[in-house]
Amino acid sequence: MRAVVSSLQRGYKSAPVFFRGQLVESQDTPERLEAFIAVALEMGLDLIEPPVVVDPLLKSVHEPGYLEFLTEAPGRWPQMMPGVTSLMPNIYPTRHFPARLPQHYLGQAGYYLGDMVSPLTAQTWGAALGSASSAAHAASLVLSGEPVAYALCRPSGHHAHADMGQGFCFLNNAAIAAIVGRTRHARVAVIDVDVHHGNGTQHIFYDRDDVFFTSLHSDPEMTYPFFTGHADEVGSGKGEGFNLNLPLKIGSGDTDYLCALDIAIERIRRFDAGFLVVSLGLDAHESDILGSLNVTSEGFVEIARRLAALRLPTVLVQEGGYTVSQVGNALRAVLSVFAATVK
Ligand SMILES: [Zn+2]
Repeated sequence: MRAVVSSLQRGYKSAPVFFRGQLVESQDTPERLEAFIAVALEMGLDLIEPPVVVDPLLKSVHEPGYLEFLTEAPGRWPQMMPGVTSLMPNIYPTRHFPARLPQHYLGQAGYYLGDMVSPLTAQTWGAALGSASSAAHAASLVLSGEPVAYALCRPSGHHAHADMGQGFCFLNNAAIAAIVGRTRHARVAVIDVDVHHGNGTQHIFYDRDDVFFTSLHSDPEMTYPFFTGHADEVGSGKGEGFNLNLPLKIGSGDTDYLCALDIAIERIRRFDAGFLVVSLGLDAHESDILGSLNVTSEGFVEIARRLAALRLPTVLVQEGGYTVSQVGNALRAVLSVFAATVK
């Protein structure tokens, strides 16, 4: 089993973020990626450097204007604001504003960045591009016959919309992996087990019937991203019936989680997917500093067993997981199951 990580991702450090009313260091630390790499190496996975993802693939998921903003703004912003290296919005086109794109970068930041934990710096684009490249290449490996591959994505991707970064995410790695899968498979399923709703992925595929999206997450009434992730979001137009949200009560443990997982898996079976992308957040683990569920390491083993039992070509795309000292436990649990299936 191979693991993919780009050297572009190494060392990326977020600027400080505005979190729960205070400016603090981001919880998305470079040490997270090093922890994922350490587990992959410890488990004997081959680490591969991916080629940089090509523009047409990026543009099949993301809008050109947004990509231009991500690449241009971090360089131009310090010219407008000498000494300021981080671009973070303080106003957004919320529900009483028309969604129009202003010329000023601060206005554009409000248009293209959905919160205050996703600041742009000169480092952001390279890291996001590297992360997307890891996902795309892992998906290519699976298309070329490997039963499973692990993309060590950081920054994460599942909160990134076609035209908006959010929640530490800028490019939607899982969506990119799904689009790669779609080049050979008529139906692709994406299951998101991160503790937070995969709102970006949902939005990208919301009106499509060829990509089924399902997310298990902590109740959005009480959990980021708050405004999406409810059970009544089922898709729209052609996509109606191809989006399944399974919100769980805060504090839910293995039993409730696995019940919800069985519902998601049954729907993936009925959808008759030929290719599976797992948005592998580890922050539903009981130890996670940003999590609000209580899934144990044994629970993660069972999650992986049930997903592996689908026997689909599978790409594991790393998403959240923030307690660096503990994150290896959940990852080890998942990788051990999938590594055993490919022996
Ligand atoms: Zn998360």
